[in-house]
Amino acid sequence: MKALALRPLQTDILILGAGGAGLFAALHAQHANPALSITIAVKGLLGKCGCTRMVQGGYNVALGAGDSVERHFMDTIEGGAWLPDQDLAWTLVTGAVERVHELENELGCFFDRNPDGTLHQKAFAGQSFDRTVHKGDLTGIEIMNRLSEAVWARGIARLEEHRALALIKTADGTAVAAVLLVDIRTGEYVLAQAKAVLLATGGGPTMYKFHTPSGDKSCDGLAMALSAGLPCRCATWRWCSSIRRGSSRDPTRG
Ligand SMILES: Cc1cc2nc3c(=O)[nH]c(=O)nc-3n(C[C@H](O)[C@H](O)[C@H](O)COP(=O)(O)OP(=O)(O)OC[C@H]3O[C@@H](n4cnc5c(N)ncnc54)[C@H](O)[C@@H]3O)c2cc1C
Repeated sequence: MKALALRPLQTDILILGAGGAGLFAALHAQHANPALSITIAVKGLLGKCGCTRMVQGGYNVALGAGDSVERHFMDTIEGGAWLPDQDLAWTLVTGAVERVHELENELGCFFDRNPDGTLHQKAFAGQSFDRTVHKGDLTGIEIMNRLSEAVWARGIARLEEHRALALIKTADGTAVAAVLLVDIRTGEYVLAQAKAVLLATGGGPTMYKFHTPSGDKSCDGLAMALSAGLPCRCATWRWCSSIRRGSSRDPTRG
């Protein structure tokens, strides 16, 4: 039987997935320590795949006079029928303020503005305040284009059209030592050794007959983590608040 040929690769940080989460993580890691080697491995083409690019509505952030992160937090918790992890929701709403400034001032996103120069924030389903920052209805494209340009400009290594298949643990089983990937173009396997591996592979809508998210997200990250025996948090799928019954704002305005 022919032995499996593996292309070896070594990196300090390996990020799986290249949506908003993966690209931001790569940029932040490099900013924290420029000496680190960082590699992004992604199933599709960097900047073109995943759901972040599909975002039309916009980015919810409490910036306006009369709004607050506490109010944004409560909308998030109530919108999720009290199922969201509250610590994560708090990180989301407080981090959003920082992130939107980073997107504009460091990465160069052009979001729509009011005549007085402040960011325009529109109404969106599930929000009790007009807090959705947007660029027309092409917000995700704006964010992904700027993030991708920053990743390209900073020389972060990338493996495009590489699908992560399995997390390989150390001999004693206490840590992840590497990731097995397949190069979708050639069929060649890659064994990427890394000191740290970040899963930013998104959820898995393909279990449903009808779904709007990008089809390249097929629950791989969660499956790999479970197969490797890693502790996983219960994933509660996001149902778009525009179609959730009882949405507190008119969804057609979102
Ligand atoms: C149509 C639509 C509209 C939306 N509108 C909004 C909105 O207006 N506002 C809002 O806040 N949110 C919106 N969302 C939700 C939002 O898009 C997601 O919550 C967000 O983009 C998730 O970012 P992410 O980086 O985690 O995942 P993604 O951007 O989906 O990236 C996942 C990445 O993982 C990669 N990947 C998957 N499996 C593997 C593997 N095995 N190996 C390597 N790579 C892999 C994928 O190729 C992709 O690059 C919308 C979603 C959809 C589908």
